[in-house]
Amino acid sequence: MSKVIDLAQWKKQKESEQQGDDAIPGFLIWLHCPSCQTTEYTEVRLSSGRIHKCGTLVEEVEVPIDIRAEYTISQKNLSILEKGIEENSNLKSKFRKLFGENKLLREQLKRNEMEYQHRLALMTSEKLVPYPEDWDAKKHGVEFVIVQPSGIMITAARQADKYFPQKK
Ligand SMILES: [Zn+2]
Repeated sequence: MSKVIDLAQWKKQKESEQQGDDAIPGFLIWLHCPSCQTTEYTEVRLSSGRIHKCGTLVEEVEVPIDIRAEYTISQKNLSILEKGIEENSNLKSKFRKLFGENKLLREQLKRNEMEYQHRLALMTSEKLVPYPEDWDAKKHGVEFVIVQPSGIMITAARQADKYFPQKK
């Protein structure tokens, strides 16, 4: 007699397998044009170097990341931005007022997070699932700063001035 598979059970198991503790390694590449003084990031690794639209050879720094950690933190940022500032009790009231009124800034920050998540998704063929709720970034060696007044976390990988320190 063949074994009967409980579909709901099977789905549940699959989901928990996906939501394990496996990191997904990847690279975020920072690009800096010394002529234009522009800095941007890409998910596209090139070994041959690239030329900026102005004709200058671009300086590149490849930052190794855990795609899943970056995704998890970015998701948290989105939910912070969506919840709004009222619930973020860590903020001083001055900041809360300022930021709460600044809808444009909030929308911009949300777009930044969505763009980042889009790029992260392009780095891997694996489906991005955030780490479990109790996952601790610090314990896993993921450095970040908390930016006020928004309260969002910016990981070391996203801090461009870390990689081009003299060029600000
Ligand atoms: Zn340039």
